[in-house]
Amino acid sequence: MTRVSVPALVDSFLAAARPGPFEYEACHHVAGRRSDAPWLVFGFAIHGNEHGSLPALLRLQRELEDGGQEAHVTLLLGNIDAIEKDVRFVEEDFNRVFTFDQPAKSCERKRAERVRPILDRADFFLDFHQTQTKTREPFYTFPWARELVTWARVLGLAEVGLTRPMGQSFSPGLKCLDEYVRDRGKIGLTIETGYRGQDVAQAELVYRGARRAIDAWNRLVSGIALDDIVATAPPIRWYQTEHVIASAGQELRLRAGLENWTEVRAGELLSAAGSRELTSPATGYVLFPKYFGPDESPPPELARIAVPFQSS
Ligand SMILES: [Zn+2]
Repeated sequence: MTRVSVPALVDSFLAAARPGPFEYEACHHVAGRRSDAPWLVFGFAIHGNEHGSLPALLRLQRELEDGGQEAHVTLLLGNIDAIEKDVRFVEEDFNRVFTFDQPAKSCERKRAERVRPILDRADFFLDFHQTQTKTREPFYTFPWARELVTWARVLGLAEVGLTRPMGQSFSPGLKCLDEYVRDRGKIGLTIETGYRGQDVAQAELVYRGARRAIDAWNRLVSGIALDDIVATAPPIRWYQTEHVIASAGQELRLRAGLENWTEVRAGELLSAAGSRELTSPATGYVLFPKYFGPDESPPPELARIAVPFQSS
């Protein structure tokens, strides 16, 4: 099997990119049938080492044509500086800096200023991410709102999702791209398609996600209600974070083998041999487990434990 060169994917995209009304060179825009059509934005590689979506980005760029769908579609390529280095981000997490409450000093904040006009036009934003540790399956992550949950079913990209009460940010004081769009009263969703890196199945999932969103908007524009579009879609199992396991320095480390959606029992040992002891505070599922090297500083949190979501 030929290895995919990620920089070559980025170069191909940039070479053919038509930014349309935007000044951001790393986006590709195709117009809808009418100038007042709804506006769809899809996010790719917002985190630099989550580039598994790029083959789908190129395929969509090749296939989509002006007026070929009802909605305007903008394909947004994210943190190119980080993609080149194959790291999550260079100076600051690009998916946390959409606050615009301080001078744009880092390269990510500078990029966010340039991407902002794209998000300001979005009626619908779907952000394709990948996990930093392995995952049993793809999953959605966004706050609980009926419309978002309905959209997740329409897209049909995952059978599970991690949610939280609306208004509760994923990381307090920081803002993700999808959160920025939701704060404008528009639709913003994130899907974690799988473990980071190139993966044919994930690229296919991303492509399908964008296509289904475009198709659904074709139907919405023709007058069909979202509730009718979703009617036959299977339900999704929703979970919420019950506990955030905070870091406690170098002495606290997770045992090997924990993945996203690993099932754990209350009291089960989660720490590695030689680490300070840590047991699971609840029966549920591990999410976003973090491992770090002896020379790396520990991340702010080590893992989350999720339990079935109870909508009040
Ligand atoms: Zn990500």
